[in-house]
Amino acid sequence: MLIDSEEVPTRNGSSAALVPRFDKQGYSDEAVAARRKWVEEKTGATLTHVGSYSLSSEQMRGNIENPIGTVQMPVGVSGPLLIHGSHAQGTFYVPLATTEGALVRSYERGMVTLTRSGGVTTRLYLDENRVSPVFLLADVAAAHDFASQLNQSFSILKQEAESTTRHGKLLRLECQPVGREVIVNFCYFTADAHGMNMIVKATERACRWIMLNSAATDFWLFSGHSSEKRGSGSLFAGGKGKKVVAGARIPSSLLRQYLHITPVQLVDLWHHTVIGHLHANTIGYNGHYANGLTALFIACGQDVANVANSAIGITNFELAENNDVYVSVTLPSLTLATVGGGTGLSTSLECLQMLGAVGKAGAPKLAEIAAATLLSGEISMAAAIASGEFVNAHESYGRNRPEP
Ligand code: NAP
Repeated sequence: MLIDSEEVPTRNGSSAALVPRFDKQGYSDEAVAARRKWVEEKTGATLTHVGSYSLSSEQMRGNIENPIGTVQMPVGVSGPLLIHGSHAQGTFYVPLATTEGALVRSYERGMVTLTRSGGVTTRLYLDENRVSPVFLLADVAAAHDFASQLNQSFSILKQEAESTTRHGKLLRLECQPVGREVIVNFCYFTADAHGMNMIVKATERACRWIMLNSAATDFWLFSGHSSEKRGSGSLFAGGKGKKVVAGARIPSSLLRQYLHITPVQLVDLWHHTVIGHLHANTIGYNGHYANGLTALFIACGQDVANVANSAIGITNFELAENNDVYVSVTLPSLTLATVGGGTGLSTSLECLQMLGAVGKAGAPKLAEIAAATLLSGEISMAAAIASGEFVNAHESYGRNRPEP
């Protein structure tokens, strides 16, 4: 079973051991235990908890290399969250995996306030993902010709790309010339998958056709323009993940009773923190999308690194008729899935089942639940700051106070 345990020389004359390699059985319980034991011996750490898990180690194939076990995160539940969406309809109890004390309680009080106010309305606008290769041309004139003519080959490129996937659909090509290079956004519908494995494969196939049938002299599959796992202003235009909006109207009486603030206090807080965001040159405006998204992503087996591009958008608090407030979040680049990646791992699947967002047709529903969840967190945090309760809440719920 163990096929390789190699030492590599270092420049100072010593050597360092490579992690032992196993044959195809490297995901068996025995192989995982042997690798863990090797790490324990090498590092002196005792990995009792890392080695205690109920997932099948064979199920980790395709999700991790060199497995030694699992890490465990506490998971809590927030709710009820009433949603009137195009895809998410009803009352939800949302799993949030975090080690930040006060987070679940904060989302919960936002959800309860929104639910008492009649619920959150959610709508999905765009549902896409993209890969953005860059092609090199001889000079600016050749780049101009390439960029002007590429869409004449759209049908054949669509055929090439879609020959590698049953669910991925090439929607359009967008050329962005830069000097003698041309960045091309390959924009796809990826159904319920996050889609990067799917569409990178499809795009590579299409790029090979372009190299054989155009004046491009070279290409790189990734230009950086796609903003996968990176924040950028270009995300606001859509094309990377799902564009989702969630909004609700909260009567002033409920705002006072459950969030301990007046409508004017909430809107004032928004106004003054917008200025802080502008001063910091932030992309968009939000209180803490990354908190709820990370916790939801960990619980539901999402690729957590996509928080970098997903936690972008605009939170808005406005005064409405009858002294109500209208609150909303707009998320232009929410990247999530209910098929593929880590979504099938046992705990992820259980958490997705809590939301009724599993497998086929689950991803749009999950996106609307995520947006409504983030709205809950935005109003709760804003209220805690505006009412002066922020520090006390963390002192009550969010401190471990380890011994010095
Ligand atoms: P995947 O697990 O590699 O593949 C999922 C596959 O499920 C799809 O390709 C599709 O097959 C199939 N499928 C079955 N039912 C489907 C449905 N209802 N909707 C959509 N697809 C369905 O997942 P992926 O989404 O392509 O890739 C996600 C992972 O890629 C993430 O977890 C992330 O960690 C990783 N990633 C990869 C890259 C990269 O550059 N390769 C970059 C960032 C992240 P068909 O294609 O045959 O339809």
